[in-house]
Amino acid sequence: MDAREREVVETIAGRERELVDLLCALIGFDTTATVEGEAREAAALQSLIAGRLEGAGFGVETWEPGPSALPADRMGFDPSYSFAGRPQLLAFRPGTGGGRSLLLNGHIDVVDPAPRDRWTSDPFRADVRDRRVFGRGAADMKGGVAAMIVAAETLAALDPPLAGDLLVNTVTDEESTGAGSAACVARGIAADGGLIAEPTGLSTWLGARGSLRATITVEGRAGHAGLTQPHWSAGGAVNAVDKMAIVQGALERLAREWRDRHATTHPHLAPGGIAVTGISADAWMVSLPGRCTLDCHLQYLPAQADQSGWGAPVEREVEAAVLAAARTDSWLREHPPLVSWSDDVPASVVEPDSPIVQAALAAAGAVGDVPRIARETTFFDGPTFTRAGTSTIALGPGHIVHAHAVDEHVTIDQLVAAAQRIAITAMRFCNSTGRSEHGAARPRSALA
Ligand SMILES: [Zn+2]
Repeated sequence: MDAREREVVETIAGRERELVDLLCALIGFDTTATVEGEAREAAALQSLIAGRLEGAGFGVETWEPGPSALPADRMGFDPSYSFAGRPQLLAFRPGTGGGRSLLLNGHIDVVDPAPRDRWTSDPFRADVRDRRVFGRGAADMKGGVAAMIVAAETLAALDPPLAGDLLVNTVTDEESTGAGSAACVARGIAADGGLIAEPTGLSTWLGARGSLRATITVEGRAGHAGLTQPHWSAGGAVNAVDKMAIVQGALERLAREWRDRHATTHPHLAPGGIAVTGISADAWMVSLPGRCTLDCHLQYLPAQADQSGWGAPVEREVEAAVLAAARTDSWLREHPPLVSWSDDVPASVVEPDSPIVQAALAAAGAVGDVPRIARETTFFDGPTFTRAGTSTIALGPGHIVHAHAVDEHVTIDQLVAAAQRIAITAMRFCNSTGRSEHGAARPRSALA
C-alpha cells in the first residue's frame, strides 16, 4: 500500500463505531421483502442513505421505477410490476477523468425473520455482543451496504485522486425477484466494473449459476385406497404419487449426470443441480390421488445455457429426460407428464483476469489477506449488471450461511475489513486506465 491507501485504511479502522452504528440504524428499518411487494420502510431507509451520501458530496437521486421499467424477457417480470414505496437510489461522484468508473451496489431488502420466536434478540433491533452485530440483514446485506457507504464517505472526505467516477447504488426487490437492479440497468446505470457487497466472507464471487423453476404434473386415476385395484387397462385406479416417483428418479439421475459431465463444469461455479421444493397430491385420506404436482428449482452453468445465457436448452434436456422415463411405464407412456416453466434467471460469470477481479484480489493482498475466489455462490444481482456490460463481482462482510438464518450476524472485524477492501479496490480500479466502452452512465435526470 502507498501512503494514501494506508491513510484510507487507518481512517476506516478509526470509524469502526460509526460503521457499527450505521448498520444498527439500517437493521432498524423493516424492509422485509414480500411476494406482493409491500413498501414497508424501504423509502425511509433510502432517504437515510441519500442524506449520508449527499452530506459526503455525492449527487444523489432516488426514484420509483414506473410500470414499463422492466424488460419483457424470460425473467418473467409481471408487466404491471409496481415499485410503489420502494425507491431505488443512485449516488454519483465524478472522477478527475481518464480512469475506470466503479459501481458499488447493494440491496436493502431482507427476508422474513421467521421463526421470530427462535431469535435471541429482536431481528429488527440490532444487538451488538461478542464483537458481532445481530439482526435481520446484518450479513445479507445491510452490513455490506454500511461498509460500502463508509468506504465511499471516506474516499470523498480524504479525497485521494480518483480518476474514474464512483457510483453508489442501493436497490430493493433483490430477495424477491431481482427487479430493483434490473430496473437500474434498464435506466442506463452502468460502469466499467461493479462490486456488490454481498456476504461472501471477503472472498470474491465471479458470478452465479442460472436458475429455472419447473412444475411437473402427473395424472393418475382416482379410486378407493382400500381396494385391490385391477390393472389400469382393466379400469383400475392409478396412484399419481407412485407415478411421480418415476419422474423424480429421472430428475435425480439427470442431476447426477450434470455433476459428472466435464463439458458443463466450471472452475469458479458449483455444478448445476435440481432440487425438489414441493410435492402435492390433494386427495381424500382413503383415496388414491388422481393428480400429483412437483415443484423444483434448477440451477445451471453457462455452458448449459444458450448463446444469450438463458436456460432454454436446460428446459429441453429436462423434458426429454422426463419423457424418456415416462416411456418405461405403460400408464405414463399413454399419459405423459406435463412440464411447465416459470421464470428463468440467466447464468453469468466475470472472467478472473478482468480488471475488477484483479483490483479486488490485489486489494486483498494489499491489506494482508489471502486473495480468494469462491466457487459456491448463490443468486445475486451481479449477473444482471454483467450481462448488460458492467462486469460485476460480489465481495462483502459476513458469511452466506448466516444469511436468511435465525440469529443472523456479522463480525465487526469483517465489517471494517470489507469497508477497507472496498475502498482500496476503488482506488486501484478507478485509477487504472483502459476504459471499456461502458463508461459510467448518469441517470437521465440532472445530477451534479
Ligand atoms: Zn443478498
